Amino acid sequence: MSALAKPGLLSDIKQFGDVDVSACFSCGNCTAVCPLAQSDGTFPRRMIRYAQVGMKDALLSSKELWTCYHCGLCSDTCPTEADPGGFMAAARRYAIASYDRTRLARTMYTRPVLGTGVAILLALFFALFMYASHGPQSAASLALFRFIPEGLIHRAGVVVMVIVALAGLAGIATMALGISRRERSRRQAGDGAARGGLWRALWVAIGVESLGQRRYRADCATVQEERPWYRRRWLIHAATMWGFLGLLLATVLDYGLALLGVKATGSPVAIWYPTRLLGTVAGIALIYGVTMFIVDRLRHDGQAARRSETSDWTLLVLLWITGVTGFLVEIALYLPQAPAWGYWVFLLHVSVAMELVLLAPFMKFAHAVYRPVALYFLARTDQTARGGE
Ligand code: SF4
Ligand code: SF4
Repeated sequence: MSALAKPGLLSDIKQFGDVDVSACFSCGNCTAVCPLAQSDGTFPRRMIRYAQVGMKDALLSSKELWTCYHCGLCSDTCPTEADPGGFMAAARRYAIASYDRTRLARTMYTRPVLGTGVAILLALFFALFMYASHGPQSAASLALFRFIPEGLIHRAGVVVMVIVALAGLAGIATMALGISRRERSRRQAGDGAARGGLWRALWVAIGVESLGQRRYRADCATVQEERPWYRRRWLIHAATMWGFLGLLLATVLDYGLALLGVKATGSPVAIWYPTRLLGTVAGIALIYGVTMFIVDRLRHDGQAARRSETSDWTLLVLLWITGVTGFLVEIALYLPQAPAWGYWVFLLHVSVAMELVLLAPFMKFAHAVYRPVALYFLARTDQTARGGE
């Protein structure tokens, strides 16, 4: 790994969030209050130091960068108002942009007008592309799903998935290689970090931490206790994540059932039909989580919501439109006759959902993959990962 310092790293990171940690004098207050810091006393200060001295490679290969949930305790108590929590969030955006070779992520983060334009144009492209092959509008409720040919949606969906998988895997490989190299050189230098079991690490990273939100729920509890249970950030975060994953799973299963000839996509089924039920519950969770995130940001409620980047809004708006239009389509499907508005809502839903998935590796959403990867590496060390490095 190159140990060359990158001049201007701090100002580059600043483009990803309005934070300035140049005033940090490493007093250690943030470490003392951070619920994720460990006894060696370097988290999150070490990340700040890397940025101050231009150690880009060290910063990008720090798995600890992804353990922070931006609770904001450290920012509240920083004597120089350096906003270490905000810095960690900006550094993660910087990392997502750095892992992405296409530079689309950098554009989405650092050029808000252009990024918003890309998002709008992409939605328009999908809408026009689908509309060009649209079928007839009739009163029959099944006609709603025939408006955009099923085969076209599936083929476009497969292309989108392939692009996302390639972009996502390239980013993960860059990140994982960086962390692996660093871990290896630390082991060679005799700096702790013996490797634990692979399966246990996978279970901890994916099951316990990512799906179960253990640390967000338990370790960051002090900050969350001030809120009623239904507004706690871990729950809002989890509802959004579970909702999105549930909807993705319901879509894939629906596609699988159509391929197997069990049922055609969009054919009317009872509300308790497994894929329908999964989609409905996941949709409610997604809309709840995203709406709460939006409310928090509008109210500037909590450190993480005090300042919003345009990219934060882009993601939230796309998620919200996807969730709400999905429900409207479901309502239209159960009406005795397909309503005229149902066709346009269906077109909007499909277009925005495809755009959302396509842009996932280039927006904040990418952390849903990078965080588990980092947590996996953390779980494989003896320290079992609480931020110490
Ligand atoms: S509390 Fe502020 S000044 Fe002190 S180490 Fe943390 S970021 Fe730096
Ligand atoms: S989890 Fe992040 S935001 Fe919260 S105190 Fe620790 S470093 Fe700061």
